[in-house]
Amino acid sequence: MDAFLTQWYLLCKHIFYQKFDLKFNEMSLPTSNKKLLSKRITQMSPSATIAMSQMARDLRAKGHDVISLSLGEPDFDTPQHIKDAAKKALDDGKTKYTPVPGLVELREAIKTKFKRDNDIDCDINQIVVSNGAKQSLANLSLTMLEEGDEVIIFSPYWVSYYEIVRLGLGTPVILDAGIETDFKVTAAQLDNAITNNTKFILFSSPCNPTGSVYEEHELKAIADVVAKYDDVYIVADEIYEYINFTGKHVSIGSFENVKDRTITVNGFSKGFAMTGWRLGYICAPKEIAAACSKMQSQFTSGATAFGQAAAAHALLSDMSPTHEMAKAYRSRRDMLMGKLREIPGFKVNQPEGAFYIFPDISALFGKKNGDTVINNSVDLCNYLLQTVHVALVPGSAFGNDNCLRISYAASDEQLLEAVRRIKKGVEQLS
Ligand code: PMP
Ligand code: GLU
Repeated sequence: MDAFLTQWYLLCKHIFYQKFDLKFNEMSLPTSNKKLLSKRITQMSPSATIAMSQMARDLRAKGHDVISLSLGEPDFDTPQHIKDAAKKALDDGKTKYTPVPGLVELREAIKTKFKRDNDIDCDINQIVVSNGAKQSLANLSLTMLEEGDEVIIFSPYWVSYYEIVRLGLGTPVILDAGIETDFKVTAAQLDNAITNNTKFILFSSPCNPTGSVYEEHELKAIADVVAKYDDVYIVADEIYEYINFTGKHVSIGSFENVKDRTITVNGFSKGFAMTGWRLGYICAPKEIAAACSKMQSQFTSGATAFGQAAAAHALLSDMSPTHEMAKAYRSRRDMLMGKLREIPGFKVNQPEGAFYIFPDISALFGKKNGDTVINNSVDLCNYLLQTVHVALVPGSAFGNDNCLRISYAASDEQLLEAVRRIKKGVEQLS
């Protein structure tokens, strides 16, 4: 248990430092030789989602019956026809280096998909395929930002945005939205936050961690604000595009007034349940796409050949497995919302996409069980992990300490049991 507690302590410390934006050189990684490592890495917080899921695995390995709703990863397997396409690609000899921005056949398929699903017209030299959307975002940060550039991040935000922006020496400017507005930042908030240093705005819709979906009129209002300013770009992360319960997904990059200033980020991890394949992509203005490709040429080269061939097949063939998965997520959401609302102190709004619920649990702050006092989201996560063995992610990792993130990419049985346990744990607080 000692190693586990050390890990937990380090994670809490990282989240705490990030939240209060303390000087990161005050932090130490578990190493005996600080000079060994660069400032860049010692100042970086680890990914809280990955750290939490690893802690859950470690506890499980020690024989504890842990339910982990911490990692945002589909519980479904990749559809069989996509796996078959990868096997065929291997047999066909797709085992060599690929063009750095991606196989032409995949970029052609992505171009078709952008037109078909997003109303975005692009050329294949605007498309860069990467080893996951995470790398796509890192490419953008490293190619677009200079020290002093500000990136406006809509909060709650996906955990890695903050660190990816800092990696590019950018300054994250966080715009907060709470549960009262379904965690959505308004165009007026954005207008107030833009300065001469603003390089781009960054948000996901459907959103990780809140599941919120920006409606067309909200996206239009945001686009109208951005359009007023020269040289402000939009990075729209649409990786949960196919897990959208509102009907048709709307891409901000399809709007005439910002289409030349929008970088649309997407990937195969969520909609096609292909997290381990490591495939993401962007559609960007040509100059930015070429820069990302240049960056990749020195870092990673092109993504895996047979994976790309299968990804092209995925985009152009039967999408029904993707729709079936989205249907399952939706029914889990419906089931879970009702159950979570029965837990004292949990305030739950209705997420419209992705596979997360982000309850506001601030009503529990100040409550205790024995010597354990709940003062923030980290305390509650720690308490639930220790007492009822359910792993969740503290909202502070996503910029909102009033909340917790629950990933419902898990079976109905696991979800029902997890909620039963959470309720039991919470009812023991007074
Ligand atoms: N953006 C968001 C909002 C995500 O939730 C994820 C999930 N890891 C990513 C980007 C990165 O996805 P991947 O690197 O697996 O393509
Ligand atoms: N996007 C997922 C999450 O938020 C996967 C973990 C990660 O890549 O950080 O949990």
